[in-house]
Amino acid sequence: MTTALIIGGCKGIGRAIAQRLAKDGFDILATSRKTSPDVTQTEQLVREQGRNFLFLQLDVTDAADAKSVLSPYLEGDSLPDVIIYNAGIARDNLFAFMDAREWDDVMRTNLQGFFNTVQPFVFGMLARRRGRIIAISSASGQAGQAGQVNYSASKAALIGAIKALAREVGKKGVLVNAVAPGVIDTEMTKELPKEQILPLIPLRRYGNSAEVASVVSFLAGADATYITGQVIAVNGGLVI
Ligand code: NDP
Repeated sequence: MTTALIIGGCKGIGRAIAQRLAKDGFDILATSRKTSPDVTQTEQLVREQGRNFLFLQLDVTDAADAKSVLSPYLEGDSLPDVIIYNAGIARDNLFAFMDAREWDDVMRTNLQGFFNTVQPFVFGMLARRRGRIIAISSASGQAGQAGQVNYSASKAALIGAIKALAREVGKKGVLVNAVAPGVIDTEMTKELPKEQILPLIPLRRYGNSAEVASVVSFLAGADATYITGQVIAVNGGLVI
């Protein structure tokens, strides 16, 4: 049986990834910062696919917390086959007005959290000579977005990280990629001025979480055995 760990896997895009990978035949480990109806709903969606679901409670910004929660899964049979780093926040502001808190919160979640939760698994994956790591970046990390200097920097950094890591671990059979969504219809984007954004998107609509999950499914699956160090955009043409 194959297992996928989704860091930030109980709502929005992360939940869609959990549902899709369960449909693909993965048992699911999914994290959230708290128990909530989001977790229960995600568990239900996974179990409807006939797969096992395990909830892990952690905050990616707390390295010690993450390490202790994840430590039972770092090696042997409990080591996940696929790890998806999906946790992320935005704290948008023009750079001229951005305060240190807005900068730090985004960096600690989007980038430091990747180190806190993914790095501990890499040694086990190398020893097993197999594994997939997928980071959810963003179109903002590829092209830059005004009002999102912090977020764009964190998501561009994830792209740098997956490219470098792909070079380190490829010879041991570990594949590392990123998915870069454009504007996806989730809680994160519900306050955005839709009428101003849609003209920028050639497909003239927001994407949905399932459309991101299907690309993660491809990268996690048997058809993606020769793809590593790549960034796959899912953005309706927002960045070309
Ligand atoms: P949501 O706000 O719905 O989900 C955010 C996810 O990040 C949740 O799973 C949340 O977990 C997790 N998270 C946030 N902070 C922490 C933390 N400190 N510790 C642990 N988990 C945390 O947004 P989306 O589903 O839209 O976003 C998912 C990912 O996709 C993010 O990385 C985002 O940057 C990226 N993305 C989204 C786009 C969009 O248009 N929506 C576009 C491009 C990229 P919890 O259950 O604890 O709340």
